[in-house]
Amino acid sequence: MSFDFSGKRIVVTGAGQGIGRALATALVASGAEVVAVSRTRSYLDSLSAELSSPKLQTLTVDLGDWDATEAALGNIGAVDGLVNNAAVAIIENFLDMTKDGLEKSLNVNLTAVLHVSQIIARGMVQRGKGGSIVNVSSQASMAALQGHTAYGASKAGVDNASRVMALELGKHGIRVNCVNPTVVLTDMGKLWLDPARGGPMLAKIPLNKFAEVKEVVDTILFLLSDNAGMVNAVTLPVDGGFLST
Ligand code: NDP
Repeated sequence: MSFDFSGKRIVVTGAGQGIGRALATALVASGAEVVAVSRTRSYLDSLSAELSSPKLQTLTVDLGDWDATEAALGNIGAVDGLVNNAAVAIIENFLDMTKDGLEKSLNVNLTAVLHVSQIIARGMVQRGKGGSIVNVSSQASMAALQGHTAYGASKAGVDNASRVMALELGKHGIRVNCVNPTVVLTDMGKLWLDPARGGPMLAKIPLNKFAEVKEVVDTILFLLSDNAGMVNAVTLPVDGGFLST
């Protein structure tokens, strides 16, 4: 799918690896200026080396740290689009769930999404040119998946908070949407390579395959773009039909 993001400045979190990295790459190829935000400097350095483009700016910050996030993004300048993609997947069965696992899941996957969105949306409102925010949620926000209590709760929070953001920011021309992928075989998704886990999941996906990174990226690009100008407050599954079964 091809989009023209010339003249747009887009912030992508979790751009060091996986979906975020592929998204940052696709956006630069589509003419956008991209601020790639992530936790591990070396991954961002390798992205810079790979793209070798003046359109890519990188920013290292642990988004789980509220003050560090404020300091890193507080003066980011004009932004047209934001993709909250960074997340952690800490898989623990409910009875064994740890305080640390729960806190990290909620902090990175939910609190940071709200905080980064607030920082960026305040700038968008002040600038008066509208904008588009896409939050990368998950099918786990709507389905019960073994071991996904904290992760699913964090993503369900993202879905609902996105609708409230859409409600409050619509009058400023800012759209807020979610994409809700099924399994993607990135570093995060590789636990599904275990046939005992992945087999039953595949069997519940009508298309009988996991999502490709590109399929998620293309959906994000659409929601981010002006082509989706009237699409607002949706949670859009990229799940081969999993959630409908
Ligand atoms: P990856 O683990 O491959 O990449 C996640 C990225 O987020 C990494 O670059 C990571 O940084 C960054 N990140 C994590 N924690 C922080 C933090 N505290 N501060 C800054 N950056 C951070 O995951 P995916 O690409 O698979 O996932 C992307 C999104 O898609 C996530 O929101 C995930 O929940 C969602 N998703 C993924 C699915 C899957 O099966 N893969 C399925 C459904 C949804 P670092 O490089 O340092 O590790």
